[in-house]
Amino acid sequence: MSQGTIVKVSGPLVIAEGMRDANMFDVVRVSEHRLIGEIIEMHGDKASIQVYEETAGLGPGEPVVSTGAPLSVELGPGLIGRIFDGIQRPLVEMREMVGSNITRGIEVPALKRDVKWKFEPTVQKGTLVKAGDIIGKVQETVVVEHRVMVPYGISGVIEEIYEGEFTVEETVAKVKKENGEIVDIQMMQKWPVRRGRPYQQKLAPEEPMITGQRVIDTLFPIAKGGVAAVPGPFGSGKTVVQHQLAKWADAEIVVYIGCGERGNEMTDVLMEFPQLKDPRTGESLMQRTVLIANTSDMPVAAREASIYTGITIAEYFRDMGYSVALMADSTSRWAEALREMSGRLEEMPGEEGYPAYLASRLAQFYERAGRVISLGTDGREGALTAIGAVSPPGGDLSEPVTQATLRIVKVFWGLDSSLAYRRHFPAINWLESYSLYLDILDEWISSRIAKDWNELRADTMRLLQEEAELEEIVRLVGVDALSPSDRLVLEAAKSIREDYLHQNAFHDVDTYTSLHKQYRMLKLIMSFYYLGKKAIENGASIKELFELPVRERIGRSKYTPEEQVDEVFDKIEADLKSQIEALSAKEVEQYA
Ligand code: ADP
Repeated sequence: MSQGTIVKVSGPLVIAEGMRDANMFDVVRVSEHRLIGEIIEMHGDKASIQVYEETAGLGPGEPVVSTGAPLSVELGPGLIGRIFDGIQRPLVEMREMVGSNITRGIEVPALKRDVKWKFEPTVQKGTLVKAGDIIGKVQETVVVEHRVMVPYGISGVIEEIYEGEFTVEETVAKVKKENGEIVDIQMMQKWPVRRGRPYQQKLAPEEPMITGQRVIDTLFPIAKGGVAAVPGPFGSGKTVVQHQLAKWADAEIVVYIGCGERGNEMTDVLMEFPQLKDPRTGESLMQRTVLIANTSDMPVAAREASIYTGITIAEYFRDMGYSVALMADSTSRWAEALREMSGRLEEMPGEEGYPAYLASRLAQFYERAGRVISLGTDGREGALTAIGAVSPPGGDLSEPVTQATLRIVKVFWGLDSSLAYRRHFPAINWLESYSLYLDILDEWISSRIAKDWNELRADTMRLLQEEAELEEIVRLVGVDALSPSDRLVLEAAKSIREDYLHQNAFHDVDTYTSLHKQYRMLKLIMSFYYLGKKAIENGASIKELFELPVRERIGRSKYTPEEQVDEVFDKIEADLKSQIEALSAKEVEQYA
């Protein structure tokens, strides 16, 4: 252990000398208050320390003690349903201890030490195990089975394994290593947050993370293990999108990192999340959620840690073989924390004062997402899907954080305040957004849902783009100047927007749409276009085409409950066909 003294305090940055024996990224305790900090730079015996608590009142001469260990999180039963701060201190329990003004230097363990968990072994005495192997399970919440894994670096033969109720610190198994040494295994393990947890192999994404949100699944899908960014101008419906994803995305575990949006917004999340119901189980969503939250009274430096704390917890559940969705809101606030520290360290500033390593830090974070084969003999597959919100000042996407993020992520959901203003929700702009997973996922969906999915989606997108171009012309010369087929494009695109892309998160049925229903809906809307086009070519009147009685039913088709989809859609489709045929027949009659 290394003990030094403070020579300088500058906000969250403390410089201490006499730290020669300390290492980069060691956790240190600063001053008599024992504030928690982390060494982020070393020069000779001088350490620059990022302190995660308020440093007011600290001065030169006070002691700094290195713990000799990097910033780590505790992993084990008792993570789910909890709310932690950026350095994994449990917020609720801390509040109970010291009230709402968190005392400095307070130490509360992340995982409760007094709770007994029912541990059920899944291997027997004599089994050969290695790191990552599951040796037992604990029903952590009603919906989450916690799989206890052999910690990294340990392998050998199970010498003893116990069934029963244990705290996270009690020994549940003994492993005899090859050299004869016996290691006690507890349910809790620790992991340094700045190091990605190891896995056997990273796999290319191939399966969609289905969200039930039509604009996302159909036009801008995200893969399991993929990375996405979503900018959220105020009032653009960002919160609703995040809640919808947390509720509906087919992820077994949700990790939500709130790294310090405007002060009270974080408290909103803390209040709102526990109230959300998991639609699949009817239980609180917290039964499969971990929240990391920086309250407004914590210094910005803690935001930096929260990103790493959150993703490490997410990786841990991925290693169990789960599909995990991680949401970070907002990565811009994290970047601002980096900028502030960088400024205090007097580093050479890059664009807009952000450090030159901004892009690489962001990349390192998103790189920890992915679909992997975990360590362990059974070669189970887990996925960590990362969705980062960015908050570009004034909605200006050209600013450095957004730009650096866009170079890394594969999906961009461009929330647009003008769409929100027109009450088109989710306000994801279909012309600006993109997904680079389209080709891979098309294949997956085509082979499972419908062979013509690909075409249908491409045509849908094409119509939306044509609409944007035609609207320019309409602005100049009016709609009457358009040819009937162009007017049909406009009408079909309108139907795509209003009947398909618009989705009401608060409607019992509309809130979630299965891929099968998405296909049926899109097919129906596009059939109106395809059949209508033919009818117009045969001389049908567009006025009559646009006013077909069946169109109202197309508009309402989104409210069809999943179990009635085939029956209802078969009928509407048949009626659409016969009504359009009747139109064409009428024209033919007229000319006959
Ligand atoms: P932000 O977090 O971006 O400030 P919110 O997510 O709180 O905005 O959304 C603002 C309002 O927009 C919500 O209160 C709601 O009325 C409406 N809204 C957003 N998304 C939807 C949606 N998918 N369906 C219906 N209404 C929505």
